[in-house]
Parts: sequence; structure tokens; C-alpha cells
Amino acid sequence: MNNLKEYKMYINGEWVDAENNRRFESLNPENNRPWASFPEASAKDVDHAVHAAKAAFDNGWSQLPASERANYLRAIGDQLKENAAHLGEIETIDSGKLLKETKFQATYIAEYYYYYASLADKVEGTVIPIDKPDMHVTTTREPIGVIAAIIPWNSQQFLTSTKIAPALAMGNTVVLKTSELSPAPLIELAKLFEKINLPKGVVNIVSGGIECGHALTTHPLIEKIAFTGGTETARHIIRNSAENLAEVSLELGGKSPVIVFDDAQQDNAINNIVAGIFGASGQSCIAGSRLYIQSTIYDSFLEQLVARAETIKLGPPLDPESQMGPLSSLSQLETIEDNVKRTIEQGGIVRCGGSRSSFSNEAYYYPATIIECENHNLPTAENELFGPVLSVMKFDSEEEAIRLANDNKYGLSSGIYTENIGRATRVSKAIQAGIVFINTYRLISPLAPFGGIKDSGFGKEAGIDSIKDYTRVKTTWLNTSNKPVDDPFKIR
Ligand code: NAD
Repeated sequence: MNNLKEYKMYINGEWVDAENNRRFESLNPENNRPWASFPEASAKDVDHAVHAAKAAFDNGWSQLPASERANYLRAIGDQLKENAAHLGEIETIDSGKLLKETKFQATYIAEYYYYYASLADKVEGTVIPIDKPDMHVTTTREPIGVIAAIIPWNSQQFLTSTKIAPALAMGNTVVLKTSELSPAPLIELAKLFEKINLPKGVVNIVSGGIECGHALTTHPLIEKIAFTGGTETARHIIRNSAENLAEVSLELGGKSPVIVFDDAQQDNAINNIVAGIFGASGQSCIAGSRLYIQSTIYDSFLEQLVARAETIKLGPPLDPESQMGPLSSLSQLETIEDNVKRTIEQGGIVRCGGSRSSFSNEAYYYPATIIECENHNLPTAENELFGPVLSVMKFDSEEEAIRLANDNKYGLSSGIYTENIGRATRVSKAIQAGIVFINTYRLISPLAPFGGIKDSGFGKEAGIDSIKDYTRVKTTWLNTSNKPVDDPFKIR
């Protein structure tokens, strides 16, 4: 315990332990040894953080000119860029994600803060062409209040920026709960908030698990919950919000379909399919994990894809040569192993990978795995695994491909590979998903809305409209007449 890095939480601009001094440890997925410990926030700590955020909201942040709030956001972006190497390294140690990816993300995520900084003073009200004489009616957009942000263990900088940046731009304050699995990147982010002198209480970061999450999402002063995580947890979040009637936005899991038509540019399709399912070892909510190949090219395309997947280099996440790092936890490995085993029992044919790699006996390395499935009701083809497992099925016609793509409870992302623009447009319109990639995959941008439908949640993050999700409309009626109202009992 002694040589563990000891982190604190960031509440009201101060570095604090849990009031009851409880702590938990985070493992380094590269060797599964604890490397850091974190305060385990109690309900009392959460209450303290929410009150700090409320005081910051009431006492200045919400009234600050938007252009001044934007300056803070720009300063956060600058700090992210300056500290990208350090932030990337910490995230890699804590989550097992490749350094080249975490470092890039920390740099690029600065753009999200810049983007919302530039929007902060452009959200305008309206004058309503009202149907009543003598009335002047306007709408204005006001901040909501204290926002609870709940983050999973992957892509924390990205998922935090899409909540914090628009929330702060519009004058809200935030209490953010890190995942209990890899909290360090967000505590490191809090150090940057301190560095730029963000007014105290504007963002508070608590670390903890379900108890902390429950206390936060049921707290009476929380006005909105911005949640990213699993679909089952989301059901708890909605139940919790019955306590405080907070607004809720949900970014949840996925089982995203990818369709390859026989006229696709095959080299491009293969590289993008690999990026979509094997990037970040498949531990991505938009992983393209169900692949449908047109029967006319099925055998030859699959052969090429398998050959490409077999070249993927497993390795330590800090090594720049590595292409896939370890899984983040034992429970990830167990979920994958269980689903692969049941799929094989039900007739699935493993074309590559399919069992834990012997690369290390300390970490859970799982190779790029491709399984042919006769139908997409086999476990690996139906369930979100959050791992490097691609289930492959055959289709004949465009109609069949659309039907199969839509036959899953999730609706987050999707991919289409074809050189026929008419077909690409038809299929993209018919697919039930929040995101469609055509002849590409796995891109994000602050300008592009991100989010799903069906069991993948609701509400969009990023993009121009999401800033309005952190406001409420106020309607103001002004009587311009100089005559007193004649009959108070008559509705006008
Ligand atoms: P999770 O649902 O287990 O946990 C997410 C967060 O919710 C954690 O901070 C956790 O502590 C908290 N939590 C758990 N129970 C809670 C409760 N009862 N009340 C309040 N908070 C509670 O998810 P995870 O395993 O950390 O992350 C993986 C999941 O997240 C996958 O399903 C993945 O697809 C999804 N995800 C979605 C997106 C997206 O943008 N759509 C992005 C990344 C991950």
C-alpha cells in the first residue's frame, strides 16, 4: 500500500480524502498490480461536492459573461495540449489503453473545449411573433444548475469533455464521478482546473463506486444527469432520477453492425473493419462487432480479413510498436471467454484468436478474434462484449442486410462499405443507429453529434445542438399597454 500513488478528490477547489478515510485501489492492467489508491466518496462527500457546485453556481459562475467562461474553457484546452503526454501515460497505466491512442486523445480533446468556448456567447434568445396585442414575448436560455456527470472507465477524457465543456460554457456547474476502475485520468484533469484557477466549486471530481453514484444521481440539488456507461446501469440511473426529477441523458453500449457489399473497395474496408473492432482491443462503445459480408465475396473477403487480423501485434500498452494492449480487467476477460465458449458450443467457427493469449501471465491479453456465425443470435453476435471479437455472418440482398443490421436491441453506430452512392444513401437512411460510417469507421469530432437510439440511449453529445441541452428556455411576457386590464376573470 505504501508505494501506491495516493490520489485525492477535488471538491470545492480543495484536495480531500473521503470523510471516513475509506480508499480503494486501481490496478494497472499491464500487470494487474495495484498502482494507485483513491478516496471512496461517501454520500456525505457527495453532498459536500454538490453543495459546493450549487454555491459556485449561485455565487457567480452562472452570472459570469459567457465570453469570460469561454476564456476558462480555452485555458483548459491549452492545458490538455501541454500535458497530453503525461495525461496519456496516466490513462494508459490506469486503463491499459495504448499510449499512442491516449496521448492523441488528450491532445485532440482540447478541441472540444475550444469548440464550446467558441459557442458560449452565441446561444441567443428569440422574440416571439405573439398572437396577443400589447404583449412583447421573448425567450432566453438559462443554465440548468448543478449537473451530475457519470463516466465509465474507457475514453474518460473524451466523455468528460462532451459533458463539462458545454455545461460550463452555458453557466452550469458540475459534480463528476469517475469510474471506480480507472479514476486517475480525471483526477489528473482536476489538477489542470486548479492550474488555470477555475473558480472553486465550478467542477468537483469525486471518486467512488455505486454508493457514490447513487448518492449523486438521487441528490435533490442535481438538475441534470449526463450518464455514459452500460445499459443495465442506465436503468438504475433512471430510477434514481425519480428521486430528484433530474433530466437525464444516456450514452450507452452498442453492438454495431458493419455491412460489406460485393462492390466495396476491399482494402479500405478491411483496414476500417480492423480499426472498428480491434482498435482499443474492442473496448469501445462504437466497436463494429457484427460483420455482414455479401455472399458473393464472403469466402475471399473473410480470408483476407482473417489474414490481416492475424498480423495484429499484441503488446504492452506503453510500447509504441503495440497495436493491441491488454483487456482492462478480469471481468472483461471472463465475459469474453464465456460468450466465445457458448458461441462455439452453438456452432460458431473460430477463424482466428478465440482464446487468451500466452503473451503474459500477468495481464489479460486477448488476440484479435473472428468467429463465423450461422446466425446473429449466437452469443458473440448478439451481446455487447467490449472486446476484440468480431462475429461474421453472410447476407444475399440489400434488404436482408438492412433487416439483419436492425435486428439487435442496440442502435449506437454502424458501418457500410460500398462504392455505390445510391445504395450507401439508401442503407444509411434505413439503418437504426445514431451514427453511420460510410467507407470509414471510428472517427470523432467536437462538431459531430455522437450518441445512440434504442437501448444505446438518448440525447446527443458533441455538435452544435448539444450546448442547448445544458440550458432551459425561459419565456417572458411583457405587457406594453398603458391601459389597466379590464376583466380579470377573462382568459386572454
Ligand atoms: P458501467 O455502467 O458499469 O459504469 C458506468 C459508471 O456508472 C461508473 O462510473 C459506475 O461507477 C457508475 N455506476 C454503476 N452503478 C451505478 C448506480 N447504481 N448509480 C449511479 N452510478 C452507477 O459501465 P463501464 O463498465 O464502466 O463501461 C462500459 C460500458 O459503457 C459499456 O456498455 C460501453 O458501451 C459503455 N460506453 C458507452 C459510451 C457511449 O458514449 N455511448 C462510451 C463509452 C462506454
